[in-house]
Amino acid sequence: MISPLRKRPWIAAASLLLAVSGPAPAESPGSSAPQAPAADGRVSAALGGVSAERIRASIEKLVSFGTRATLSAQDPASIAAGRGIGAAREWIKAEFERYAKDCSGCLEVKTDSFTEPAADRIPQPTEITNVYAVLKGTDAENAKRIVLVTGHYDSRNSDVLDGKGDAPGANDDGSGTAVSLECARVLSKLKFPATIIFLTVAGEEQGLNGSHHFAQMAREKMAKEQGGNLEAVLNNDIVGGDKSVQQDHSVVRVFSEGLPAAATEQEIRRIRGLGGENDSGSRQLARYIADAGRSYDVGVKPILVFRLDRYLRGGDHSSFNQQGFAAVRFTEFREDFDHQHQNVRTENGMEYGDLPKFVDFDYVARVARLNAATLASLASAPAPPANVRLLTKDLENDSTLTWEASPGGLAPGYEILWRLTTSPEWEHVETVGDVRRTSLKLSKDNVIFAVRAVDAQGHRSLPVVPLPER
Ligand SMILES: [Zn+2]
Repeated sequence: MISPLRKRPWIAAASLLLAVSGPAPAESPGSSAPQAPAADGRVSAALGGVSAERIRASIEKLVSFGTRATLSAQDPASIAAGRGIGAAREWIKAEFERYAKDCSGCLEVKTDSFTEPAADRIPQPTEITNVYAVLKGTDAENAKRIVLVTGHYDSRNSDVLDGKGDAPGANDDGSGTAVSLECARVLSKLKFPATIIFLTVAGEEQGLNGSHHFAQMAREKMAKEQGGNLEAVLNNDIVGGDKSVQQDHSVVRVFSEGLPAAATEQEIRRIRGLGGENDSGSRQLARYIADAGRSYDVGVKPILVFRLDRYLRGGDHSSFNQQGFAAVRFTEFREDFDHQHQNVRTENGMEYGDLPKFVDFDYVARVARLNAATLASLASAPAPPANVRLLTKDLENDSTLTWEASPGGLAPGYEILWRLTTSPEWEHVETVGDVRRTSLKLSKDNVIFAVRAVDAQGHRSLPVVPLPER
């Protein structure tokens, strides 16, 4: 029988011995199926504050700027007139500032502006501005750890070079922008040891320019900061739940890369040799999201798609992947291509264009809850354990794992996870307590292991798959 993870007694070595033999060690009787962590009451309460009505208001406001094309107007007169990407940018900033005021300045609102040189989809050098709010972690060491949610606030119509014509962008990506805003509004009411960044980027439709710039900046900052890491990036792009008849409003897709874009030749060789194609940081993050969806009653189920993005298409999470960060993409189950990247028009009775009337605001709210649950879980959790290793000096059928303490001192305990090489999600867990080494009567040849840190309240870190130690 399966008992909830946190209620399970510490498992003695003797019970591990039961796992020695049998055709499928990973399914042996000595181990337990991992249960999603129990919900944290204050997070559940905050998720209850996510409002479809607020999300509707945000999306309608974004649409009211006529176009948010990256090439559209951003001069003071256009901003004052409320048309173009400049006006949208100022409104997003003001909105974050309003949330900051409501939490006594707990959010720091910032912009990241740069000039993108001329390129394929950028006829002349263009200023691009990302707008974001930082909810700084309350623990000095853990505040260097960052989790991030993003959506792109730029829009486009049929012609990606059209900076003048209407481009409402309600679903693509008013929905993702609204998710980032709503997560900031509800999570700024709480405090977390780690830092959360609520980001909205521009330039996505021109070539992922905003996210590229931000991810590079994050990489440089993290390289300078001892102990700093951007642990997770949640990109929401087209999460409006377009109301086409074939839509499935009960699920949301979560795309994650397999082979890391930033892997070195040496890392690729190791992945090839050890069968690590399914264990990138992004894929661990995707599995973590699946867990968050089981821990919290958010009303939408994540479907993990083990692929970087939709077939031959791309998005902002890949900018973060390229800088070596774990990053995934949320997208509604079924896109309606008549309602994105289209001029607003009616032809033969068919309505085209990305208008608010095709967006299901309740669905966006459910996706926002799933995002907020994931962000809150990660920002509450200890840092992942460091230098996780699988000892390989001696040929043996047992497996010995070693690791160093989770940096930041939040983890009084650790758990070992494993699964068959063919299984998409972690299947088994052993709680091992406050140790740095453990041996399991399981062959490393047959399963994939990981170690995660657990705090006193049961918050789990992202799991870390060991490197071989010769
Ligand atoms: Zn998009």
